[in-house]
Amino acid sequence: MTARILNGNAIRDEIYAELQQEIAALGAAGIRPGLAAVLVGENPASQIYVRSKIAACEQLGLGSWRYTPPATVSTSELLALVGELNARDDVDGILVQLPLPKQVDTKRVLEAVDPAKDVDGFHPSNLGRLVSGRPGLVACTPAGAMEILRRSGIRIEGAEAVVVGRSDIVGKPMALLLMHANATVTICHSKTRNLPEVVRRADIVIAAIGRAAMVEPGWVRPGAAVIDVGINRITNAADAERLFAKFPSKLAQFREKGFVLVGDVHPDVAEVAGAITPVPGGVGPLTIAMLMSNTVKAARLRRAQINSAVAVQP
Ligand code: NAP
Repeated sequence: MTARILNGNAIRDEIYAELQQEIAALGAAGIRPGLAAVLVGENPASQIYVRSKIAACEQLGLGSWRYTPPATVSTSELLALVGELNARDDVDGILVQLPLPKQVDTKRVLEAVDPAKDVDGFHPSNLGRLVSGRPGLVACTPAGAMEILRRSGIRIEGAEAVVVGRSDIVGKPMALLLMHANATVTICHSKTRNLPEVVRRADIVIAAIGRAAMVEPGWVRPGAAVIDVGINRITNAADAERLFAKFPSKLAQFREKGFVLVGDVHPDVAEVAGAITPVPGGVGPLTIAMLMSNTVKAARLRRAQINSAVAVQP
């Protein structure tokens, strides 16, 4: 079997086309949704992420602002900035790019964000809403994984879903979303016994582990749908050759650039699975798409006391 490739870029484009209509309807009512990004210090990966998020805002015609406090910023200085952004009417979404420097109390900063502007869905009040199945802002990566499953016609209701990883930002919300969509969900973590056996039961596998190519072909039931959330950079030639022995174009990429990306799922799983997300180009584009979607939704819920042309959805 060769898996159907679930193309995240195509699904993102579909979502952007829908958002553009919604943005135009809000625009007609005098509302331009806006996102404020707080980027602390000089972390190169964070700089790339924030640049892509601002670029997506510009592409869709959303307002965007970038705040760049130095790496020496204190918790109280960040709390003051978040307070200012909370008070601004033109800011619908506030994004605090993680990780924050060691001296900063990350939880306090995230909890200071107005839940109505918490477009990352990290605030305990939004997590609580998700637990109780009430409308709110949902973490972008798991919300994006759900869009991939739904828009690819993968049956969730009644399916056995196994989520490997239980982080607050991916694994836990992912499991809740699948459960609300009527899957039977198992959550695995570093203490799970017989992990390959548990994963083998799944119709839907979500890998959010942070370990390169950990989920091997023998772990996956033939025909299962596999969503690979992981993004790992391979810089060692022997590892690249071992992982991508059957993918000459990836090896060529490695030789040219000196690195290649791999997910938490071994590339050879594509020979067993029924459907699989590629890395890159799978879950990644959806994470940004859902951030845009959350910003528009936040604007609609917070500012739009407007007509039924912009109907409020959960
Ligand atoms: P995380 O906070 O480090 O959580 C990793 C989870 O995996 C933990 O629950 C951990 O279990 C579990 N785990 C670690 N080693 C394991 C093992 N040997 N067996 C079973 N479970 C194990 O990571 P995260 O933030 O959820 O991110 C996961 C991956 O997704 C990373 O590769 C990250 O780069 C990627 N990511 C991608 C996107 C995107 O847009 N595509 C967005 C976010 C994250 P314990 O709880 O027991 O420690």
